[in-house]
Amino acid sequence: MPESKYDTIIVGGGIAGLTSAAYLSAPGQKVLLIEKNRECGGLVNSFIRDGFHFDAGVRALEDAGIIFPMLKDLGINLDVIKSKVSLGIENEILHVEDLSSLLKYRELLIKLYPECKGEIDEVLKVIRKIMKHMDVLYGIENPVFKDLKRDRTFVLKKLLPWLPRFIFTVGKINNMNMPVEEYLTTIVKNTSLRDIISQHFFKNTPTFFALSYFSLYLDYFYPKGGVGKLPEALKNKILECGGEIKTETKIIEVIADKCLLKDQNNISYKYDNLIWAADLKTLYKITETEGLLPKIKTLFEESKSKMLKNRGGDSVFSLFLGVDEPLESFRKIANGHFFYTPSKIGLGETHRGELNYLLANFEKFEKVQILTWLDKFTGLNTYEISIPGLKDPELVPPGKTGIIISSLAEYDLFNLIQKAGWLDEFISELENRVLSVISDSVYPMLKDKIISRFSFTPLSIENRVGSSEGAITGWAFQKSMPVINKIQISDRSVLTPVPSIYQAGQWAYSPAGVPMSILTGKLAADKALKQIRKFKNR
Ligand SMILES: Cc1cc2nc3c(=O)[nH]c(=O)nc-3n(C[C@H](O)[C@H](O)[C@H](O)COP(=O)(O)OP(=O)(O)OC[C@H]3O[C@@H](n4cnc5c(N)ncnc54)[C@H](O)[C@@H]3O)c2cc1C
Repeated sequence: MPESKYDTIIVGGGIAGLTSAAYLSAPGQKVLLIEKNRECGGLVNSFIRDGFHFDAGVRALEDAGIIFPMLKDLGINLDVIKSKVSLGIENEILHVEDLSSLLKYRELLIKLYPECKGEIDEVLKVIRKIMKHMDVLYGIENPVFKDLKRDRTFVLKKLLPWLPRFIFTVGKINNMNMPVEEYLTTIVKNTSLRDIISQHFFKNTPTFFALSYFSLYLDYFYPKGGVGKLPEALKNKILECGGEIKTETKIIEVIADKCLLKDQNNISYKYDNLIWAADLKTLYKITETEGLLPKIKTLFEESKSKMLKNRGGDSVFSLFLGVDEPLESFRKIANGHFFYTPSKIGLGETHRGELNYLLANFEKFEKVQILTWLDKFTGLNTYEISIPGLKDPELVPPGKTGIIISSLAEYDLFNLIQKAGWLDEFISELENRVLSVISDSVYPMLKDKIISRFSFTPLSIENRVGSSEGAITGWAFQKSMPVINKIQISDRSVLTPVPSIYQAGQWAYSPAGVPMSILTGKLAADKALKQIRKFKNR
């Protein structure tokens, strides 16, 4: 027996699902949000361990013309702080303050690669051009979060003058879709310099997205109390508007023709509309299509085969440290959000050819050879270092500091090592290496001051949020994406072959991240609402 029937059920209580649920419960729809974990937030999540507050997923948020308009539209007040970024290579550290910091970035690169002055200037020229495009793209509050029927001032004074510039910019952006590594070979000969500019992006990131990061550094903000305050605020909004949230409930079957879901306890839930805001491979694997119209079934099977052939993008390894050293010691060195590369040599083939060879011939590799590769990988990598206490001092016990050090990591390697039976040993070896690389370079005071340490791997991410290949921003970048990847048609990204099922979140559009997850969450809610109203008015 179905438990109850809902106008819309949303599966996945990450930031996308929470957005959809908030937008559907606000106008009084009967809404149920189902989340498999005890808490909502997915990859936007904070937690406390031994008095230290940490962020489990994203370390700070970018507005991107989306988050603040969404909060304003929903009437949510969120106390936020600017999250200042620092960039560092070897002993050179730059604090990104404003647009003029780009000149300091140029000086930093020239100091490290004096022989590449011309190439650096070329790269900077492109970054500047992209920053101008970003100013247009994020230049106004995203119209999706505005009431265009009532807010005539916005339409006349902002939207209409912006549209032609937007269309022009989209054309420019679409011309810069080639993988950043490939693009950089056309303007930079020095392989180390190329790596240093691009190695902290996901493999094959489209050039436009990768080189727009300087703009994004200026856009980062941090909710007081941790990034988890954003999902918490949305959750409160949903409950306040009468929406229901059911946690610790995993959906294991979708029976599409009956509009029915089943959870791990065999409880059924009936919907008019379903918004799937979780891993898309899972949706396609668990959906029963018997009884659907043959045309829809065929389209569904085509989509399914496309989705299952593709894989999730890069994952991360994150080391969490409780340190017996005051925040001031770290503040003197860098801001609380810090992209640091201990060596200017660059990862080169370590993270490509050598890793691919290792993965393809894993059986032939001795443990000691893998650990030797790990020495290089950790010594040459770029790290995202986050110190929540430098953004909000209330997030640490007095006189102490919590640090998160992370780098991109290959899911397949962790998977093979787990199967080979030495995952715990590998994690410990990896933790030791990251710790010694960072204490031998930028934070010497880390040595001997660690009170507690633990880490999350790509496998933990897969396990916790059910993300294929432990991906943190949806699909891997490849020539043919299984979902929409053009901003001008982003509203179509939420459609699936089954009219009553919508998709939202990091798997629905590429490239993704928090802002696009929120945007698709809202777009899916709009479509579901329209559908319900149409149906009820019949
Ligand atoms: C370390 C790190 C750094 C990042 N940095 C950035 C950044 O700088 N900028 C940026 O924009 N983005 C960043 N991201 C990515 C960003 O956090 C994610 O892309 C975004 O939060 C995805 O949100 P989502 O709601 O689409 O998916 P998720 O957060 O994955 O939410 C999906 C939810 O669905 C639930 N679920 C899954 N399967 C089921 C099921 N069968 N039944 C019920 N529930 C289910 C999961 O438990 C989860 O809560 C980062 C992520 C990480 C981990």
